[in-house]
Amino acid sequence: MSRVWNFSAGPAALPEAVLTQVRDEMLDWHGCGMSVMEMSHRGKEFATIIETAEADLRELLAVPQHYKVLFLQGGATQLFSQIPLNLAAGRSADYLVTGSWSKKAVEEARRVAPIAGPARLAGSTAVKGALADGFTRLLRDEEISLDPGAAFLHLCTNETIYGVEVQDDCAALAARAGSVPLVADMSSHILSRQVDVSRYGVIYAGAQKNIGPSGLVLCIVREDLLGKAVSTMPSIMDFRLMAENGSMINTPPTFGIYVSGLVFQWLKRQGGVAAMEQVNIRKAEMLYRCIDESGGFYRNPVETTSRSRMNVPFTLQDTALDAVFLAEARDAGLVSLKGHKTVGGMRASIYNAMPEAGVTALVDFMRQFAKVHG
Ligand code: PMP
Repeated sequence: MSRVWNFSAGPAALPEAVLTQVRDEMLDWHGCGMSVMEMSHRGKEFATIIETAEADLRELLAVPQHYKVLFLQGGATQLFSQIPLNLAAGRSADYLVTGSWSKKAVEEARRVAPIAGPARLAGSTAVKGALADGFTRLLRDEEISLDPGAAFLHLCTNETIYGVEVQDDCAALAARAGSVPLVADMSSHILSRQVDVSRYGVIYAGAQKNIGPSGLVLCIVREDLLGKAVSTMPSIMDFRLMAENGSMINTPPTFGIYVSGLVFQWLKRQGGVAAMEQVNIRKAEMLYRCIDESGGFYRNPVETTSRSRMNVPFTLQDTALDAVFLAEARDAGLVSLKGHKTVGGMRASIYNAMPEAGVTALVDFMRQFAKVHG
């Protein structure tokens, strides 16, 4: 067996130790004679799994008591409409757009606007006429105009496709927003850096990057924001009902919750989020340095102060070499480096589960490739 260095943006690499544990526990979880996939979600075994997963996540992110942790389905995409339906219920909500995902969030909110309320653009870095909107930076303070009466202010704190990441844990924005709750899509960087959960009304994240298998989406909601859903809300979409029923109005994605719980335990063994953040800083610095010191052979278009530690898009000066780069990388055991179709070029996603050795292998390959083809 030989495992590759997988730079996929998601579903993404999982820690090898977790995969091994899943394999070892597959047929007989803790002596109960069956796999987690086969057990009742109402039984005591699964109760232990979900309760431990929640407790570990709460510890990792220091989630305050007055926040509920929900394990939901439908991906982050479902939350794009589920959030306004739950939180706005007829009031206007503010949106910041800094990339494809925050743009999608406002578009989805507008689809449900007749029931949920209007979605107002409070700031955007889209460049008119630019290819794929040319998102390359965070918003500057003066480009943001907030509605003090908004039901919430939505943003995406790490834009997976463009590689644009909020650097200050929304300290300045939260101060400016005052009593308007921040709603953050943290899909592609949750658990990779420390956050102060109390700054946010809602934090949500699709699992398939830094948490576990796809099919699960995590949602951390401040309690006072529950119970505001539109009256026609299907119960499965209602945050309050989900919270009251321990994320189990129906059958939850049990296997995804189990694997995510193992990832949380792995993270704790690594020293928690603070320790992981230091590793992530080193990995990102190594890769950006390689790009910046390539004399223009490689280029990352994002403003230095907006660069993501998790998703590093880069282009080759000579796009005719793109296919050669990908083929030679593949031969060197480095896969899923092709950039998103909207922006082209390359992208290396270096989430928590990507060890420093994987980034070192990529950087060594990139330097050698530039030497040969430069
Ligand atoms: N938000 C962000 C920041 C993402 O990266 C993604 C997926 N790449 C999504 C939302 C959509 O997630 P899902 O596919 O789980 O609906």
